[in-house]
Amino acid sequence: MANPNVKVQYNQIFINNTFVNSISGKTFVTLNPANKLKIADVAEGDKADVDLAVKAARTAFQIGSKWRTMDASARGLLMTKLADLIDEHKVTLANLESLDNGKPYDDSLLDISAAVGTLKYYAGFADKIHGKTIPADGPYLSFTKPQPIGVVGQIIPWNYPILMLTWKWGPALATGCTIVLKPAEQTPLTALYVAALSKEAGFPEGVINVVPGYGPTAGQAIASHQDINKVAFTGSTEVGKIVMEEAAKSNLKRVSLELGGKSPLLVFDDVDVDEAVSIAHDALFSNMGQSCCAGSRTFVQEGIYDKFVEKAAKMASEKKVGDQFDSSTQIGPLVDEEQFNKVLGMIESGKKEGAKVETGGSKVGDTGYFVYPTVFSNVTDEMKIAREEIFGPVQQIIKFKTLDEAIERANKTNYGLAAGILSKNINTVLKYIESVDAGSVWVNCYDAVNAQTPFGGFKQSGHGRELGEDGLKEYLEIKTISIKKQF
Ligand code: ADP
Repeated sequence: MANPNVKVQYNQIFINNTFVNSISGKTFVTLNPANKLKIADVAEGDKADVDLAVKAARTAFQIGSKWRTMDASARGLLMTKLADLIDEHKVTLANLESLDNGKPYDDSLLDISAAVGTLKYYAGFADKIHGKTIPADGPYLSFTKPQPIGVVGQIIPWNYPILMLTWKWGPALATGCTIVLKPAEQTPLTALYVAALSKEAGFPEGVINVVPGYGPTAGQAIASHQDINKVAFTGSTEVGKIVMEEAAKSNLKRVSLELGGKSPLLVFDDVDVDEAVSIAHDALFSNMGQSCCAGSRTFVQEGIYDKFVEKAAKMASEKKVGDQFDSSTQIGPLVDEEQFNKVLGMIESGKKEGAKVETGGSKVGDTGYFVYPTVFSNVTDEMKIAREEIFGPVQQIIKFKTLDEAIERANKTNYGLAAGILSKNINTVLKYIESVDAGSVWVNCYDAVNAQTPFGGFKQSGHGRELGEDGLKEYLEIKTISIKKQF
């Protein structure tokens, strides 16, 4: 049951299966974005704490350790146990997630169910990671042995806190890596709770470590650490570049990045307009628009443009904005003041540059970080709202005439995370699939994100893939062994 008074049990750093204060003794406050009131003080980790966590993770990764000698199948069972515990504790976790992040309680429950699914999916891989025997030239028996990459640093964002955690832990644990994770400073609570559950599940000391703290301190310490073998980062393109630079400057650790987007969704004249409006609405407004793959450029063909805009505005205007624990709420608050101000600033820029506000266009009251679902029409490609990531409940509806023109405009961005198309014409769809620069293409649907299917970006939306079998590769080194035959 939704409960805004859920008790915060874990607010310290988790190292070696133990909760500890930060070495500096510092803490930071995490707020409820619906009323700006403090939820809890949380231990603020920085470089010294990251160092301790890395030491723990390194020890757990030593040859001969419990973790390294455990059967792969047993590793998979531990992961399944953790997934089951998350499921058992889903009500508490959903309450903590909604309190910290602002998303409606039912949405948190959906995220948790996806998180459980992700861990279970990867648990199944633990004893199915195979090498190859290779008929190499010469008197050799040659084969490959995929090995865990080592100690991995993982830096996650605030938009889907528990889900992003499992996207990172799933492949890391299945391959046998050890982990130092930093949750976002806005939303540290569910990561700490899941850390406690990982101990209950039976993970050996040091395999999983969680250090809450700020990006430029704790995050930077992970990216630049000399004894971390790989960093996995999800967040803004701007910070992704810093992480990559720090990784290169320190020990050339492996890097995977899942970054920003400005994803195009093309809607053609031949569709059912009501259905298309609804798909495009969800593509943008789900999670209050705070999604890296949000369909934030809605390209609509001219024949249905006016009708589409009218219906899209009506749908957005009917959404109930409110407290995340109210069961009728569809749109909760944005995560924090910075995000709130950024989104309001983007709305002002849209107005100034001549886009037309069809609905919304302002904040809601003064108690929390609420913004009305906003729909802009008459948006042109040059406008800031059509070029930059907004990460808020603001839909840009852009008119186009032909497929070729739409493809060219859809690709005119530095991003390439996702793309959608709504059309009944198979050749239109096929040409788009082939031409669009995006890691995921959704046809007659949107946000078809699944544990089984790889997800990641072209261009400045990132490096590498998460989820699916491909997600495992980011956590493996391939060792090639050649044995001379002497018979
Ligand atoms: P967003 O814009 O979604 O808040 P950020 O890229 O700022 O995304 O943050 C995503 C994650 O990256 C958070 O955990 C944040 O603390 C962390 N982070 C921010 N700055 C840095 C940095 N300089 N080095 C490493 N991590 C950082």
